[in-house]
Amino acid sequence: MPGVLETGKKDLLRALPAVDAVLREPAAKPLAARHGRAALTAAVRAVLDDARRRILDGDESPGASVLEAASLLLSGRGLKRVVNATGVILHTNLGRSVLSERAAEAVAQAATRYSNLEYDLASGGRGSRYDHAVPLLRGLTGAEDALVVNNCAGATLLALSAIVSDADGSLPEDAKPEVIVSRGQLIEIGGGFRIPEVLELSGARLREVGATNRTRLADYAKAIGENTRAILWVHPSNFEIQGFTESASVADLSTLGLPVIADVGSGALPTFGDEPRVSDAVRDGASLVLFSGDKLLGGPQAGIAVGARTWISAMRRHPLARALRADKLCLAALEATLGAYLEGTAYEDLPTPTMFHAPVEGLRERADLLAGDLARVASGFEVDVSPSVARSGGGTLPVHEIPSLAVRLGGGDVEALADRLRAAEVPVVGRVNDGLLWLDVRTLLSDDEVAIVAAVKEAVEGESG
Ligand SMILES: *Cc1c(COP(=O)(O)O)cnc(C)c1O
Repeated sequence: MPGVLETGKKDLLRALPAVDAVLREPAAKPLAARHGRAALTAAVRAVLDDARRRILDGDESPGASVLEAASLLLSGRGLKRVVNATGVILHTNLGRSVLSERAAEAVAQAATRYSNLEYDLASGGRGSRYDHAVPLLRGLTGAEDALVVNNCAGATLLALSAIVSDADGSLPEDAKPEVIVSRGQLIEIGGGFRIPEVLELSGARLREVGATNRTRLADYAKAIGENTRAILWVHPSNFEIQGFTESASVADLSTLGLPVIADVGSGALPTFGDEPRVSDAVRDGASLVLFSGDKLLGGPQAGIAVGARTWISAMRRHPLARALRADKLCLAALEATLGAYLEGTAYEDLPTPTMFHAPVEGLRERADLLAGDLARVASGFEVDVSPSVARSGGGTLPVHEIPSLAVRLGGGDVEALADRLRAAEVPVVGRVNDGLLWLDVRTLLSDDEVAIVAAVKEAVEGESG
């Protein structure tokens, strides 16, 4: 029998095409144009080597077309560095916040070494992953306790689920625990995350009060019944209603004798525009304050809950906590990020808060230098520096305009240029407006200029060649 198998293997091996034959296929041409001939050849070799190994290992159907597999291999390096020249600081599509060097080092350390993630070094016994970052969060917010989960959407779901579980048994059969929310706060955060749907998912019944533009404390008070278990206050972070408006504050709601869950979204630690401060919500009596790790905070993707010990431990005990838990890389980055706030170096060490605060005069030299470099390589285009408006993004401070500067390219086909910049080795994302390509310098990180100049050079040369 082994002999038969061997013959089968030989046939399969013989049926594999030669590298040159694959490269001569018509479909190889566009791939070589996009990725370069050398990269395509290397990918084809790798695919054929892999097919050979698999045949020898007994695999009788070693994959689809070699070229298809090579193409997947080339385009499969999916997540890559991008230059954000949009001027949108918390650009959710471009990865939101950027970690500090210190946070990145902490991540590398946690990733490549063992750690005391769930190990108590003092006793030599089991510890809890939920203990990490807690002392820092208590110190920064004044809360009794804290819990870190995957993201703020997860923290909201878990907080509501914990409130509902806690109510079980205390309600008559068939009764659902109710959570009161203002109609002005039944928002969609983005990516299909809608407050009414999250409430339903948690098992709570939504009790809407007030009107879209006005909800008073009395509206909440009137709605409280025997099944009411909490009040949810949501910061409408990605839009603003102007004019005839009224809403009840966390401090007001805390007088009603029910737990108040405050989803503040962005979570300003130090004062930041009109964003609700986490420590204020804690001081004002919220039982739970929920916020994101990768918005204004400038840390990793995370959902942070701070508040009363009883409610934080109810969240920790809930089975969903395991499903939503933060991983060690997140915890390492978060501790390093929070450390910068505690030490008062957030506006030097953390790239994202620093971008928000950089004075516009400080951007001038950078913009002029970049414009000078681009004027040299962008033949066929006119280059200038113009005042521009940067934005917060990430569903934060929606109408807040941040003065900035942009290098603008015009006088040619800027749409085509923008397309080519996005296809560069290090893709550059700007914005096309008024027939000009705007590259905002507020969101540039160190050395991004080098990548921009290379991308523009490549784009312009590709055009003429
Ligand atoms: C952004 C936001 C969320 C969701 O936060 P993620 O960390 O992205 O899950 C929830 N609530 C509010 C008010 C927000 O602004």
